[in-house]
Amino acid sequence: MTKALERNMAGRLEGKVAVVTGGCSGIGLATVRRFAEEAATVVVADLADEAGETIASEVGGMYVHTDVASKEEVDRLFARTVERYGRLDIAFNNAGISPPDDDSILDTDLEAWRRVQEVNLTSVYLCCKAALPYMLERRSGSIINTASFVAVMGAATSQISYSASKGGVLAMTRELGVQFARDGIRVNALCPGPVNTPLLKELFAKDAERAARRLVHVPMGRFGEPEEMANAVLFLASDESSFMTASTFLVDGGISGAYVTPL
Ligand code: NAD
Repeated sequence: MTKALERNMAGRLEGKVAVVTGGCSGIGLATVRRFAEEAATVVVADLADEAGETIASEVGGMYVHTDVASKEEVDRLFARTVERYGRLDIAFNNAGISPPDDDSILDTDLEAWRRVQEVNLTSVYLCCKAALPYMLERRSGSIINTASFVAVMGAATSQISYSASKGGVLAMTRELGVQFARDGIRVNALCPGPVNTPLLKELFAKDAERAARRLVHVPMGRFGEPEEMANAVLFLASDESSFMTASTFLVDGGISGAYVTPL
């Protein structure tokens, strides 16, 4: 039972059905839990089947094995959601990768480039394409796509395909937000700063100097926590953000506002 129901209060997502891709770790996992606390029915999509089943049963939802780079699997994810729960209100298209072989353009080969584009960008196209018809039927819905602060500014630690993929996610989100604004569907981009998740830890584990270089640019002097992202996603998913669409929602500890950072 969700916390909101235990307390016998209306949750902020009461009655809504949400899909979260990459829901087994980091930002996705924190969001699955936050959505459930606010009384949403949550469908967890990921590749990590064992964790996925456990998390789905923890929140009283459903797990669907989904490779977000596969059109067939993404179509099946949204179809199964609507078959089982009768509607789709929220799509948090969040799964993404940041592999070490995506680095400076000088060292990143075509295969590494393409894999990141497939998982980070083509996936968001596939998820939006699959979710929109269900939302259009009811003329209602909120889509949140995970971009990054590197979609709006260059990072001192280059990951060329990753940055390009996130720029693509942001531009696509803006376009969709504008196109469907009068159909009752809102589409916004979450742009996190560096967040303390396995993805970031993997990137910086082998290179403390690289981690320190990134931290220098964060006015708050720390990485974000997944729960801080989940709260931002909750706002975008809920009716509280009803006048927001096509937005670049930066949750970045001040990075994008900084020229110098306090010591
Ligand atoms: P994470 O590695 O903790 O979690 C990602 C999840 O996605 C994992 O559960 C993984 O199994 C799943 N996944 C990976 N490939 C998949 C695929 N092909 N199909 C389905 N699921 C797949 O990562 P995170 O840090 O929580 O990142 C979530 C999103 O936030 C990503 O899009 C990432 O690019 C973005 N982001 C992260 C940071 C950060 O600093 N952590 C900053 C900005 C943006």
